[in-house]
Amino acid sequence: MKRVITITVLFQLLVSIAAIAQLNQTWQGKKCAVVITYDDAINEHLDNAVPLLDSLGLKATFYVTAFSTSVQTRMNEWKKLAPSGHELGNHTLFHPCIGGKGREWVQPEYDLNNYSVQRMVDETKMTNLFLQSLDGKTKRTFAFTCGDMKIADSSFIGGMKNDFVAARAVRNEMRKINEIDLYNIDCYMVNNHTAEQMIDWVKKAVQTNSLLVILFHGVGGGNGLDVSIPAHQKLLNYIKQNEKDIWVAPMVEVAEHVKKWQEKN
Ligand SMILES: [Zn+2]
Repeated sequence: MKRVITITVLFQLLVSIAAIAQLNQTWQGKKCAVVITYDDAINEHLDNAVPLLDSLGLKATFYVTAFSTSVQTRMNEWKKLAPSGHELGNHTLFHPCIGGKGREWVQPEYDLNNYSVQRMVDETKMTNLFLQSLDGKTKRTFAFTCGDMKIADSSFIGGMKNDFVAARAVRNEMRKINEIDLYNIDCYMVNNHTAEQMIDWVKKAVQTNSLLVILFHGVGGGNGLDVSIPAHQKLLNYIKQNEKDIWVAPMVEVAEHVKKWQEKN
């Protein structure tokens, strides 16, 4: 009887050790991963986000629209982000989206309804080449413009899986490592949220061992989808203060880790 109990206890101990070991591998020994992303390459990223990120030592992903006004006028500052450890992600050349009802701002020339898959692939590959000329890198991630993934009925990312480690969609969800679809990664889009609301997302990621991707557009202005400077600062400070539980890294780094994990498990 005593021996049976001893074996049972030993077995339970081994199961616990295996579970802890797997948890350690999941997010580099942390409880969750947080990827901070900024879309559309706007001046406020350079002016309001980068100095704070750098002062805290947090690395982010900037989804750059190559032909944006800010890249045209401040290219050298965008170029400096990569040596600082940030990722320059691909957010297309001209930011085309599906136009139509509710999207009256989409110009006909950049309406995905008027694009072919080939044109989208060409422009996106050209953007990769442009970004490579800035940072020298060949591994990169993509962010769907307006969350649009198709031209008519055809997905265009399928033909570019060799060009990208991952692609980010726009859907307010967070997932455990085994549930992540690398070419359709979920993210929480900030639209004038308070610091407390955003901190709740981080707390949920810690509790559920998930990947949380946060998407900013404006930071203290620059886009209607905005975050106030104090709320942005409070969130980033919270993430920094809880770094023992949170793995913070650019998307390309986290996506490569997820890919390896999924291949092994
Ligand atoms: Zn965008």
